[in-house]
Amino acid sequence: MLIPDLNFYSLLVPSIMSSLGIITLSISYYKGLPNYLRSYAYALILIGMTILLNTVLSASVLVEISSLIAALYFLSCTFHSKAIYERLKIDYAWPNYIYLIALGAFGIYYFTQVTADQTARLLIIGIITAAIYLHRPIAFIRTSTRLRIDSYLKIFTFATVFIIMGRALLFSVLLEDQGFVAHYESAWAFTQLLLLLIDLIFLGLFIGCAILDLVRKLQRERHHDPLTGLLNRRGFEAYIQKIDPNPALQHAVLMADLDHFKAVNDRYGHQVGDLVLQHISQIFKANIRSKDQVSRIGGEEFLLVLHDIQKDAAFKIAERIRLQLEETPLHHEQQLIYLTISIGVSFFNHPNQIKEATLAADHAMYQAKQMGRNQVQFAQEKIA
Ligand code: GH3
Ligand code: MG
Ligand code: MG
Repeated sequence: MLIPDLNFYSLLVPSIMSSLGIITLSISYYKGLPNYLRSYAYALILIGMTILLNTVLSASVLVEISSLIAALYFLSCTFHSKAIYERLKIDYAWPNYIYLIALGAFGIYYFTQVTADQTARLLIIGIITAAIYLHRPIAFIRTSTRLRIDSYLKIFTFATVFIIMGRALLFSVLLEDQGFVAHYESAWAFTQLLLLLIDLIFLGLFIGCAILDLVRKLQRERHHDPLTGLLNRRGFEAYIQKIDPNPALQHAVLMADLDHFKAVNDRYGHQVGDLVLQHISQIFKANIRSKDQVSRIGGEEFLLVLHDIQKDAAFKIAERIRLQLEETPLHHEQQLIYLTISIGVSFFNHPNQIKEATLAADHAMYQAKQMGRNQVQFAQEKIA
């Protein structure tokens, strides 16, 4: 049953593919890797198994079980395609996959057992594989990619389909030429190696995607406050670097501090205090424009940056926040918790004035506290 001259190298490639798949799958069970990496791990294991069977089984046995081998190969392509679709957030369709696998396996069975036709087999492999990768062509082409690595993944999928189809077409034409038949096996093996290289590049791309996602997630966590979801001080500092330095624009800084918040904590407990912080965060978000930004820079201190705004409009937004908080008490266990806030406002033109502007807004906020709280005060100092 086994080919007698089987050598070490012919087993190396399938073993590497399967091992990479098994390692990825094991890591994903313990560390919860993204679903696309898990799907791709299955694809690697299946393609490794397919090549292994092709290598170790004799030609007569391969003819007997050709449709099974073909189904295994198409299943591996299916998991590969599923991984790509999962990563690009396109809905894949299991019925299409199953239909294509069944059609492909039947075609291979027919052109092996009923009428032996190598050209037809090549074309079936090419067409079915291409159809598996692009089984939802419109959605695949139309989907937009957020990250550059996702565009590479998309382009590389097209390149793979192109290579697979090109190989099938080229070989089916060349098989007409008797001179080529003698070189067929080695030429096929060469293109097989090319496809393995492509598989490794895909693995690299998927791992790259997972690392990028992780870095972005960590960065997000570094820059956001887990309680309110707002930017934290570090996030705020990163954000001010991105403010438009056009000196013709005027921006407002609002320093907002809850009034007598310590009393809320003392009376209702720290957990209710946390609910209050979430409540006020919602009010901030609901009252600023999409180009504005709100950050939680201290326990109950919030900093708002209102872009490209005049004094009247800034006052309106600050007043709206103050009034809405006053008029919207927090409901907690059949109790109403009434809250107020003091806000200091200052203006700046260039992002490098933001520190002074923040300080001025802070002074204005303390002035609002001294003048009885629950009010908006403008900074006296002019930021130069
Ligand atoms: P004022 O009107 O003068 O601002 O009085 P205040 O009580 O609000 O000011 P103070 O600075 O004395 O109190 C701030 C309180 O905020 C003290 C602290 O317990 C509370 N605090 C800070 N961070 C958190 C938090 O994450 N959760 C809760 N529940 N409380 C917090
Ligand atoms: Mg306070
Ligand atoms: Mg405070």
